[in-house]
Amino acid sequence: MRSVLASAPAKVNLALRVGPPRLAGFHPLDTVFEALDIFDDVEATSVSDSSVTLSISGLGEDLPVDSRNLAVSAALLLQERFAVPTGVALRITKRIPVAGGMAGGSADAAATLVACNKLWNLDLSTDQLMELGAELGSDVPFCILGSLAHGTGRGEVLRPLKVGVMHSWVILTQRQGLSTPEVFREFDSLMDYVRIPETLVPDTQDLQEALEDSDLEAVGRLMVNDLEQPAFVVRPDIREVLRAAQEYGIRAIMSGSGPTVAVLADDFSTADAIAGKLSRQFPELTVLRANGPAAGAHVQVVR
Ligand code: ATP
Repeated sequence: MRSVLASAPAKVNLALRVGPPRLAGFHPLDTVFEALDIFDDVEATSVSDSSVTLSISGLGEDLPVDSRNLAVSAALLLQERFAVPTGVALRITKRIPVAGGMAGGSADAAATLVACNKLWNLDLSTDQLMELGAELGSDVPFCILGSLAHGTGRGEVLRPLKVGVMHSWVILTQRQGLSTPEVFREFDSLMDYVRIPETLVPDTQDLQEALEDSDLEAVGRLMVNDLEQPAFVVRPDIREVLRAAQEYGIRAIMSGSGPTVAVLADDFSTADAIAGKLSRQFPELTVLRANGPAAGAHVQVVR
């Protein structure tokens, strides 16, 4: 085998409930993830020495290509853990907005794990890859699993949900990303921890049931993101985009830690029409049409 091409999906959080930080410093989450059919591709090509290199095309050409890049870290993790003697040249084709709250870096790590697992004949199971992925970042296991899932812990403890109907989305992405740690810092300064028990994280049980019943109206009503208010403090323009997007479709929500805004529409053709209207209303934003739930990280081509 000379090269393996793998793809991994972006995610949107239909709900993102955030608890006060635990002693270890992390915020416990209760979230519902949906994978979208916006994929990053990673092509892994074998090289004769032990080097791990990376090039990026599409979005994110300014991203680091050394071990600060999650794709490189993912290849190095497999290489070291399983004493793989050879290296790999990675080539990412990036379509997932960078620092957009859609897990783009995690998707690249997920696709790299899947591609190198095949290229190096490691024969690791999906569960094993998800466990390794959790060492790289808390969204990596979901990018491997895909589809629809309930996440707890830091978002890495996953339970797949039954898929009912397909969902049509309109995604509004900004040119300038938002730093996830900055949004969590603002979340901490807004929260009144004196009144909130340290263990309390609001749950997403009703939303999970609405999804499994394919009740889109209830899904829309129950969509929630606890990071919206803190993100608005850092970037007031997100509130404006969200308010305008709320006029369309079933419901609009900020994705993850923002600044991306996602609109859930009734069906494919309604979503296409909404995308047209929003791109005229916000010429400075990039408007994407996406559908979900989409597959998790998978091999596309083996050469
Ligand atoms: P999340 O939703 O998981 O919080 P995000 O979608 O907001 O993530 P990413 O696109 O994953 O954000 O990027 C966050 C930061 O991670 C970037 O600013 C970049 O410095 C770093 N990073 C490392 N590797 C990658 C990669 N392969 N693609 C994108 N960002 C990467």
